[in-house]
Amino acid sequence: MHQTRRQLLKTAFATTGIVLAAPALRLSAAPDIAGNEKLADDLYIVRVPGESAVVAHTGSDGVLLVDGGSAAGSAAVLKAVAALPNGSAKIHTLFNTHWHPEQTGSNEKLAMAGAAIIAQENTRLWLTQNITWPYHGEKFKKLPRIAQPNKTFYDKGTLDSGIRYGYIADAAHTDGDLYVYFPRQNVLAVGDAAYGEGWPFVDWWTGGWIGGIVGGLQRIQSVANKDTKIVPAHGPVLSYADITAQVDMYGTIYDRLVQMLNKGHSPTEGVEAKPAKEFEAKMGNPDEFIRRSFESLWAYLSPDA
Ligand SMILES: [Zn+2]
Repeated sequence: MHQTRRQLLKTAFATTGIVLAAPALRLSAAPDIAGNEKLADDLYIVRVPGESAVVAHTGSDGVLLVDGGSAAGSAAVLKAVAALPNGSAKIHTLFNTHWHPEQTGSNEKLAMAGAAIIAQENTRLWLTQNITWPYHGEKFKKLPRIAQPNKTFYDKGTLDSGIRYGYIADAAHTDGDLYVYFPRQNVLAVGDAAYGEGWPFVDWWTGGWIGGIVGGLQRIQSVANKDTKIVPAHGPVLSYADITAQVDMYGTIYDRLVQMLNKGHSPTEGVEAKPAKEFEAKMGNPDEFIRRSFESLWAYLSPDA
């Protein structure tokens, strides 16, 4: 299925002859505020400027991380983790919420020190090959074998500590997204399957799509409850109600884009129709998000695919 979907994407774009637009600004969140955010006595969000959020659990058996920062930021992230109360213990487990370099930059160092690197199997597969994004031509080298996830799963799992994890199979951001749920603290880390600020980056080249954003948010709600703190890789902590509002917003945009797709409109026409008009004041310029979302529909819904 993994291979098939990528094949479909490539075929769709080859046969429709789409000329991808010149590089545009990558959607990115505002710089994180430096410092750590305490969620519980043994659970923190480590925020290093310029890095995605890292969730650190400092248990009696050592430290568990959800995402590890970029390669360039790895040293600063690990230093910040070590400075947490009980944070200097051995890091025994690292989750990769997805394959992006902002998440996987500490893999090599931690694996060499003996950590389990847990990821959904599709994430491992992406990390075993070189990737060139069609959006801006950005290239990513496969990780060395030691840095690839060494404990993968397909559906879900539970650690001895009671911490649960599972596949966000809807493909909100990539086709390998995972969540990690800390039941005692009622905290749910979701990587980029939900954004805390700004429009999300829809990485359809590795499986993400706008329909998956809606489905992924609903799946997040099915794991969470009304009091759960939901921690995205970008932006502040979200509540259940925040996710509900996002389901409504992305559902509205999804419906509009599907209608345009069915009328044969192009991604550029989709952008020009301003299908996110009423959300722009709060969310910012949506053009890049709409273009990527429209392209993602092509990959998933086009009869040619
Ligand atoms: Zn990402």
